[in-house]
Amino acid sequence: MSITPLMPVYPRCGVRPVRGEGCYLIGERGERYLDFASGIAVNALGHGDPRVVQTIADQAATLMHTSNLYGSPMGEKFAQMIVDSTFADTVFFTNSGAEAVECAIKTARRYHYANNAPHRHKIIAFSNAFHGRTLGTISATNQPKMRDGFEPLLPGFEVVAFNDLEAATAAVDDNTAGFLLETVQGEGGLMPATPEFLKGLRRLCDEQGLLLILDEVQCGMGRTGLLFAHEHYGVTPDIMSVAKGIGAGFPLGACLATEEAAKGMVFGTHGSTYGGNPLAMAVGTTVWDIINDEDFLANVRAMGERLRAGLEQLIPNHDELFDSVRGMGLMLGLRLKSDSRAFVAHLRDNHGLLSVGAGDNVVRILPPLVIGEDHIAECLQKLSAAARDYVPPAAG
Ligand SMILES: *Cc1c(COP(=O)(O)O)cnc(C)c1O
Repeated sequence: MSITPLMPVYPRCGVRPVRGEGCYLIGERGERYLDFASGIAVNALGHGDPRVVQTIADQAATLMHTSNLYGSPMGEKFAQMIVDSTFADTVFFTNSGAEAVECAIKTARRYHYANNAPHRHKIIAFSNAFHGRTLGTISATNQPKMRDGFEPLLPGFEVVAFNDLEAATAAVDDNTAGFLLETVQGEGGLMPATPEFLKGLRRLCDEQGLLLILDEVQCGMGRTGLLFAHEHYGVTPDIMSVAKGIGAGFPLGACLATEEAAKGMVFGTHGSTYGGNPLAMAVGTTVWDIINDEDFLANVRAMGERLRAGLEQLIPNHDELFDSVRGMGLMLGLRLKSDSRAFVAHLRDNHGLLSVGAGDNVVRILPPLVIGEDHIAECLQKLSAAARDYVPPAAG
C-alpha cells in the first residue's frame, strides 16, 4: 500500500508544528516560525491566548454538547451580541466556513421560495472566488482545480468577472436569486471589491429584489481593521457568512441574515448536530468580546498601516522580485513579479517566516491581529533578507 493514512489531498510542507506561543509556531525539532499566516486567518488572537484557553477549560468542564433539540441559553446570548453590532437580525451557527456559505445559499433560495418565486434560484458568483470545498460551494467558483472530477455540480450558479459591474448586471435574469462574493477575495489573490462594484451590486439588489450575500469568512472578524470588511464601503449585505477568526482557532462559523432575507428559514428547514454547541458558543462569545472593541480594531488598523508602509518600502530595493502591495488592515498581499509559492517556501524554510500563497503571484500576509511593532520589524527584516538570497526556480 502506498497511500498515506492521512488522505493525501494536501501537499504538506516540512513545517510540523507541535506548539504555539503568541505569534510563533514551534516545530517538532524545536524550530521557531514567526506566524504571519495564522492558520489562514484563523488564529486572530495568536496561539494560546489565555482568555480563550480558560474559556475552553471552564466550558468543557461545565457542558460541551447538548443538542439543538434543546434551548440554547449560550447560543441566544452570543447571537444577540452579533445582532447588536451588525446588520443582521438573526444568526445560524455552523462549524466551518463552507457550512456558513451553504446556509447562506440555502437562505437566499428559500427567501425567493417564500416569496412565491421559486424559479429565482440562480446565484451569480465571481471569478477566482473561494467559498469552501463542499459540492455547493465549489459550484460557486470557476476554479478548475477545485471542480474537476466532481461534476455534476449544483446547478443554478453563474460565474462572471470579479469587479466587473457590467458583467454582473448583464448576468441578472428572471431566475436570479442574488450575488455571492467575498468582500475582499482571499485565496484568489487578496483582491478587494472596488467601492463602485460593491455599491453597484447593492443598488442592483435593491432595484430588482435580489439578495446580496457577502462571504466574510476570511476578511471578517476585524481582519481588515473594522469588524467586517463591508463597513469600509458603507454597504450592508442581506446575508453574510463568517468563520475563521470568529473562533480564533476553535471550529466555528455563522450565517447572519436580516429578518427579511431569513424569512424562508422556518422550523425544520435547516440544521446541524454540532452547530452552536455550548463549547463553541463560549469561545465565540469570548473572542467576539475581544475583537469587537474599538481599541482592538484601532490597533489592527495602526499595525496594518505600519506593515503596509514597511512592505511598500521594500519594493524599490527588490524591484526585480516585488511588484506591489494590496489589501486592507492586516489582510495584506505582496504581489511578486513571478510565482509566489516558491518564495513562500523560501521564506518558510530559510527564514522562519510563515505566509500563505494566493492566486495572481500574491504572498498573503495574515498575521495574528494582536501583533506589535516588534513582530512587524521582524517580518520586514526576514522578507528583506529572503529577497536578497532568493534564487527563483528556473522557468518552465
Ligand atoms: C476559508 C474560506 C471558506 C471555507 O471555510 P472552511 O472553514 O474551510 O470550510 C469560505 N470562504 C472563504 C472566503 C474562505 O476564505
